[in-house]
Amino acid sequence: MPEYEAVIGLEVHVQLKTASKMFTDAPAGFGQPPNSLTNAVVMGLPGTLPVLNQGAIEQAIKFGLIFDSEIPELFQWDRKNYFYPDSPKNYQLTQKDAPVCIGGEVEIELAGASRNLAGEHKVIHLDHAHLEEDVGKLTHFATDSLVDYNRAGTPLLEIVTKPDLHSAEEAVALLQSIRMHLTSAGVSDCDMEKGQMRCDANVSVRPVGQEELNPRAEMKNLNSITGVKNAISYEIRRQARVYEKGGTVAQETRRWDADAGRTTSMRSKEEAHDYRYFPDPDLLPVHFPRHRIEELKAELPENVFDLQRRYESEYGLPYTLTSVICYDHELARYFEAAMVVYDKNPKALANYVANELQRERSQAEGDGYLPMEQVRLSPRNLAGLVRLIDEGKLTKQLAKEVIVDMFQGGDPAEAVMEARGIKPVQQDSGQLEEWCRAAVAGNAVAAQQVRDGNDKAINSFIGPVMKASRGTANPQAVREMLQKIISEG
Ligand code: ADP
Ligand code: MG
Repeated sequence: MPEYEAVIGLEVHVQLKTASKMFTDAPAGFGQPPNSLTNAVVMGLPGTLPVLNQGAIEQAIKFGLIFDSEIPELFQWDRKNYFYPDSPKNYQLTQKDAPVCIGGEVEIELAGASRNLAGEHKVIHLDHAHLEEDVGKLTHFATDSLVDYNRAGTPLLEIVTKPDLHSAEEAVALLQSIRMHLTSAGVSDCDMEKGQMRCDANVSVRPVGQEELNPRAEMKNLNSITGVKNAISYEIRRQARVYEKGGTVAQETRRWDADAGRTTSMRSKEEAHDYRYFPDPDLLPVHFPRHRIEELKAELPENVFDLQRRYESEYGLPYTLTSVICYDHELARYFEAAMVVYDKNPKALANYVANELQRERSQAEGDGYLPMEQVRLSPRNLAGLVRLIDEGKLTKQLAKEVIVDMFQGGDPAEAVMEARGIKPVQQDSGQLEEWCRAAVAGNAVAAQQVRDGNDKAINSFIGPVMKASRGTANPQAVREMLQKIISEG
């Protein structure tokens, strides 16, 4: 029995972040009353003409720049002709032969063995990415259907990969990488729940060692990460079983039924000529100015994985922190803003961002994480808190309480300390010496151990001193004071 290998190519649709639609100034948006984001152009009324949205083209070009696609000198528009009630014009404007981005590479990270470990990185090749317009949304009832054209005409980028993926996990990792990079660059919000990112998965299976590709099944409109993962896994197993039994797999479109957990045949796959593509007579081919490409390049943030590698090598941050901060562009921005204010202790700052800040956000009222724009603890004030700790004016223990108030009220650390009656730690106070002497006197055995060269024994005094100080003492100062007292004998 031969071993089988899965071959997967994805077609990922992402809605580009623009104020208006692809070919008209009707607003683009989500969650508005049905059919409120339309106009005569969206509705395809006679006599209307399309006007190209430059912002959408620039977003598509940014996509190409992020993933190293070639941006051709010229691209053009084609009509894809078909009737379906979600598309009022009876054709969709798309790019068949001259897309905006050709080729490209997406770096992906597979899930590691645990959340704390980096996974393997791979490069997935892109075939191309083309612009098109989204269609409306149909809602079906028992005997009738409703249509909402709010989504119709929204700029959509279809990203087509080479058949480079070999497991459901790799497909998921590709979607996650695209999402991280596009949200970071502000190209798309890629929220699958809002339909801003959707995916068709093409799956075939072949015996290991076979060069040519076998017929594939295409599963349309997978609209969640779990859906993508389960549909692909199911389909790989189904096809392998067909071959094991000596059967053949048909080239077809299949529907993923999430409730039943299986795919079912929908129709034999349509061919390009079925759509009677032809160049759109209303839209001229686009010559995009080269100098503008350079300007767009300059606007792009650092590639997510490059940023992560830099944080790890330059700041010595561990994967547990970089995978939280770098994979979420809002946290990365926040961290960078705090570093501008205080760059002496990146590790501590990163820790506060990835752990304390995230915990406070998750415990705030409402579902999930408090949106970053509502967070009152500013990067500047967080940097100030870390500085106070580093300067020995605030202990880490008390900082845990202080940060809660800072998060609630948005005040700087000093103001919170004053309001809570927390005095900045006095490192040279006689009080500290008193606590230390008491602790040493209380454990002569450990004191002797320290004198005999057992450095660790000193730790047994730190707890009692911290307790006596009710957490206000600076551990470093305590350690130094203890050393002095013990060595004096
Ligand atoms: P279509 O024009 O039918 O959409 P394409 O040639 O553009 O077909 O390919 C669509 C997607 O299917 C691409 O992501 C491609 O990598 C993938 N693909 C093509 N052939 C296969 C195959 N035999 N097995 C798996 N994926 C495939
Ligand atoms: Mg296709």
